[in-house]
Amino acid sequence: CGIVGYVGPQRAQDVVIDGLRRLEYRGYDSAGVAVVHDGKLSVAKRSGKLANLEKVLADAPDGGLPHAHTGIGHTRWATHGPPNDVNAHPHTGGARRVALVHNGIIENFAELRQRIEADDHVFLSETDTEIAAHLVELQVQSGVDLPIAMQRVCQQLDGAFTLVAVDAQDPDRVVAARRNSPLVVGIGEGENFLGSDVAAFIEHTREALELGQDQIVILTRDEVTVTDFYGRPVEATRFHVDWDL
Ligand code: GLU
Repeated sequence: CGIVGYVGPQRAQDVVIDGLRRLEYRGYDSAGVAVVHDGKLSVAKRSGKLANLEKVLADAPDGGLPHAHTGIGHTRWATHGPPNDVNAHPHTGGARRVALVHNGIIENFAELRQRIEADDHVFLSETDTEIAAHLVELQVQSGVDLPIAMQRVCQQLDGAFTLVAVDAQDPDRVVAARRNSPLVVGIGEGENFLGSDVAAFIEHTREALELGQDQIVILTRDEVTVTDFYGRPVEATRFHVDWDL
């Protein structure tokens, strides 16, 4: 239901949790966050209120997940699989190299899932989302980089989705995709943001990019690149958020 992504100098966990709090008004049943550090993913997720997730983080040594500069977060409104800790996003591939969050519905998930379950891939959740995490991870494991992996996977998916993914072995970027589901980019200085709406990042920047349908966005600290699902560059519309929350 709500999505946040971040790359920059701040502690990713904090930016993501603040963003999720700003999106709480949309309603949700679970919340989660993933960060990339030292070539690894760390994920925390809980069903129920954001406060449940915040408590888990506060009780951990060092106030939660390792300090990291790249992170993604999600508040879920369950469509496939009941609200519980396992079905909460982010989801990872079997090798825990890619973490991914999703808003919307992947309509052909069952057929895609059957296909890779036949190759002994084990699924942990009942969501339509987890297949996308496995497919993106299989792509990066085969040697392509995260933006290309995302393109190839989006070409196979039916339905409405916003996807945001990180790759533990590509720690300085976040890649997102959008089809019939909202996604905006917040442009900072030396940091960039993603949100399902501008509320997710408005306390950090009011410069934003509106994405079109069937587009992919690649975020680093200093650059935002937008392409279509085939890697062709597209021009995104920049706007200034001039209303108050
Ligand atoms: N279909 C996904 C699920 O049930 C995502 C729902 C959402 O948009 O939060 O987990």
